[in-house]
Amino acid sequence: MELYELTAHEARDLLRNKAISCRELTQAHLDRIAEVESKVNGYITITHETALEQADMVDEKISKGEPLPDLAGIPMALKDNICTKDILTTCASKMLENFRPPYNATVAQRLFAEYGVLLGKTNMDEFAMGSSTENSYMKPTMNPWDLTRVPGGSSGGSAAVVSADEAVYSLGSDTGGSIRQPASYCGVVGLKPTYGLVSRYGLVAFASSLDQIGPITKDVTDCALVLNAIAGPDSKDYTSVKIGEDDYTKYLVDDVKGFKVGIPKEYFDQNIEPQVKDSVMDAVKKLEDMGAYIEEFSLKYTDYALPVYCIISSAEGSSNLARYDGVKYGHRAKEYDDMMDMYRKTRGEGFGPEAKRRIMLGTYILSADHRDEYYLKALKIRTLMIEEYNKAFGKYDLIVTPTCPTTAFKIGQMTEDPLAMHFANVYTAPVNIAGLPALSMNCGFDDNGLPIGIQLIAKALDEKTILRAAYALEKEMGIYGKKPKL
Ligand code: GLN
Repeated sequence: MELYELTAHEARDLLRNKAISCRELTQAHLDRIAEVESKVNGYITITHETALEQADMVDEKISKGEPLPDLAGIPMALKDNICTKDILTTCASKMLENFRPPYNATVAQRLFAEYGVLLGKTNMDEFAMGSSTENSYMKPTMNPWDLTRVPGGSSGGSAAVVSADEAVYSLGSDTGGSIRQPASYCGVVGLKPTYGLVSRYGLVAFASSLDQIGPITKDVTDCALVLNAIAGPDSKDYTSVKIGEDDYTKYLVDDVKGFKVGIPKEYFDQNIEPQVKDSVMDAVKKLEDMGAYIEEFSLKYTDYALPVYCIISSAEGSSNLARYDGVKYGHRAKEYDDMMDMYRKTRGEGFGPEAKRRIMLGTYILSADHRDEYYLKALKIRTLMIEEYNKAFGKYDLIVTPTCPTTAFKIGQMTEDPLAMHFANVYTAPVNIAGLPALSMNCGFDDNGLPIGIQLIAKALDEKTILRAAYALEKEMGIYGKKPKL
C-alpha cells in the first residue's frame, strides 16, 4: 500500500507509532499530486511550502512526545470558497482571482489548531453555483473514475482529489447537494451536517439559509474524525447551534438492529437510472438483513423541492453577490466613465454566465412586483416541507434514498441546459431546505464502472444515527479498496 492511499485514522496510527514521519506522508501526497493532477485538475492552488513547514512542525512535536489530536499531520484540502489567511481564496471566479483573505474561516482555524497540513485549495463551480465544476473560471475538473466525465459539483475538486488520493480528506460546502452529489459521483463519503452545526464564518456565502460546510473522506471513520474537529458553537456565526461538543467516533458501532428506516417512494421515480435504483435497494436490503425495519412511505412535497430551492438560493445568492462591486475587494474594471459604469463593467467582467443568470433570476424574484408570487410562496412551501420531514422523523430513525438519479455525466453534456443540470440535486436539495444532516456513501458501481451513491438522512442534530448506520453499511458492503485507475 502507498502512503497516499491511507485513510486519516490509518495515517494517524502510523504517525503515532513513529512508523512514518509527517514529512514522508506529506511528500507522498505532493508526489501523487505531481503524478496525477494534470489529469484530474482538482486544485486551484497547491501550497507545497506551507504543507512541508506544517509537516516539519508536527514531526518536531512527535519527536518531543507531545500528545497530538487525531488530525495532526494529516494532509488535507479545502474548497476554494473557505477563507485561508494570506492564501488565495478565489471561489473559482475572476472576481476573486487575486483575493488573499486577511483571516481564516473558523473551520480552517480549527483544522490548523489540530495541526492539520494544508495541501491546497480545490476547484469548484464559480461561487458554488453548479453541479459539475464546469462553471469554474479557472478550468474544469475531471472525474478520476473516467476522465471524460464530470466529478459533480460544486465541490467537484474536493471530491476528486480525495478519490484520486491527492489528499487524505477535504472540506466542501453544500447548498443544494454540493458535497453529496460530487461524493456520489467520485465514490467517496460526503456529509452535509445539520444547518448550524458547523460554523459558516469565513465561508464565502452563496445562499446563507442553506449553506453548510462538511467533510469529504475515504471512509466513515474519517468522516466522524473530521466532524469532531470542525463541529461546535462559534460566536462568530450567529446561526451556529449552541450545543456541547460531541465525540462522533463513539457512534461508529456496527449495529442497526431495530432501526426504523423510511424509503420515500418519490425518490425512486421515473428519472432514476435502473442501476442506481438496484444498487441502492441492494444496500437497503443489507440494512434489513442486519436487523433494521424497512418501510416505504410518501414525501408528497418532493416535486416542489427544486423550484423552491432555485427560488430561495437565487434570491439569497443575488443578494450575497451584491458585495462584489469593485469597491471593497476583488476585481475592478480598468477603464470606466463614472461610478455606475465602473459597477457595470466590473460585474460584467468579473462574473461568469451562471453567476449572472442567478443574479438576474434572484433580483427578479425579490423585486417588489414578484416577491409575493415567488419568494414568499417558496418560503411557505419550505415550511410545509420541514413539517413533512418532522412528521416522518416521528416514525423513522433514518430516511434512505439514492444521492442522485444518475451516475457522473459526460463533460459538456449538460452545459447547454442549466435547468437539466439542477436535476442532479433533486434528491439532495430537499435536505438543505429542511436544514437536515445527510451523508452520501458509495454503494456500488454501474456497468461503466462509475460509482453509485446512497444517501442517509436523519433529523436535525442526529448525525450520530447517520454515522452508525453508514458505518454498519460500510462494514457489510465491503466494496472499499476499489480505486480509480489513473
Ligand atoms: N447544484 C446546485 C446549484 O447549482 C447546488 C449547489 C451547491 O450545493 N452549492 O445551485
